[in-house]
Amino acid sequence: MYQAKAYSAASATAPLTATTIPRREPTARDVQIEILFCGICHSDLHAVRDEWNSVMPTVYPIVPGHEIVGRVTQVGKDVTGFKPGNMVGVGCLVDSDHGCPSCQANVEQFCPDATFTYNSPDQHGTAPVTYGGYSESIVVDENFVLRVPANLNLAGVAPLLCAGITTYSPMRRWGNLQGKKVGVVCLGGLGHMGVKFARAFGAKVAVFTTSPNKREDALRLGAHEVIVSTDAEQMQAHAGSFDFILDTVAAEHDVNVYLGMLGVDGNLTLVGAPEKPYAVSAFALIFGRKSLSGSMIGGLQETQEMLDFCGAHNITSDVEIIPIQKVNEAYERLTKSDVKYRFSIDMASLKG
Ligand code: NAP
Ligand code: ZN
Repeated sequence: MYQAKAYSAASATAPLTATTIPRREPTARDVQIEILFCGICHSDLHAVRDEWNSVMPTVYPIVPGHEIVGRVTQVGKDVTGFKPGNMVGVGCLVDSDHGCPSCQANVEQFCPDATFTYNSPDQHGTAPVTYGGYSESIVVDENFVLRVPANLNLAGVAPLLCAGITTYSPMRRWGNLQGKKVGVVCLGGLGHMGVKFARAFGAKVAVFTTSPNKREDALRLGAHEVIVSTDAEQMQAHAGSFDFILDTVAAEHDVNVYLGMLGVDGNLTLVGAPEKPYAVSAFALIFGRKSLSGSMIGGLQETQEMLDFCGAHNITSDVEIIPIQKVNEAYERLTKSDVKYRFSIDMASLKG
């Protein structure tokens, strides 16, 4: 075991502060990574503040962070895919049971024994729970380490590991989006990646936003249209016209409104995860044979596919790079939708 510098929160109301955490020495199958950048996902904030208490209560102290990029510093003797110096990524998963039907179907995120990057029981017993990427290093089974395309900006790659795959996967699963009318609800960390992917998949893309001042950015990011969701007239003009809508909102809102935007056989997929349940009108679904789905990140194979797609299409996240010392301020700004469009922590700041 060795000690690594990190930032952790001691309770749901405590700020994140500097600390040291134990990391295991790499086993035969492990890759040790010096973390260079870590994105700030809204899920980090939900978890730090224990907003998902009813589903997955937070164990404190928590070290969040599951949008990790870094450089391999050491590998175990049985590791075949990586060597020191490689640029790699780690997302929301660091282990699974490898044998269940979900693992066999390459959807390890649904493995009943999936180990998430933070706040999951630590199978290695290094600590009570896993500790995430707000840290100078991490040690991960090589099967959960991803290759980062060499042509991409690393600070902007970090958010691909969660925001990227979470928006890429449901769009891919829905089918060929070429020429389809696709909506992305809200322009946050996930939303702005959803816009980039939908555009790259050839869709006609519209963004629903509560922030009229994001209009120019939405168009620049690839949207063909911007609909201010609080403007009843604009909403009415698009009612019943969408094939697919991805809802990335982090707060309570009326999903029936977006079901009403779908055409016959349209699908609304939820990826945003507010703490309170939604009320869904049966009529909003049965008139038009519409469907409502959910999606959670993506499996390892698909995450690698997404990274390679980003390499080929030169897609990264639009990031504001911050030192770790500004993480609490960043969380406050995230609650006010004040980020364009993802914070990426420069982990060199942790060395200071
Ligand atoms: P984010 O960057 O904070 O973006 C959330 C956006 O929601 C804001 O930019 C804002 O967009 C909109 N919004 C905020 N408050 C709102 C309100 N009261 N009503 C309507 N819209 C509101 O968050 P994120 O990192 O993209 O994460 C979004 C959600 O996805 C979170 O709940 C997160 O936990 C979840 N998530 C799920 C998965 C998964 O696998 N399913 C993975 C990662 C994250 P506008 O200003 O444009 O309206
Ligand atoms: Zn995330």
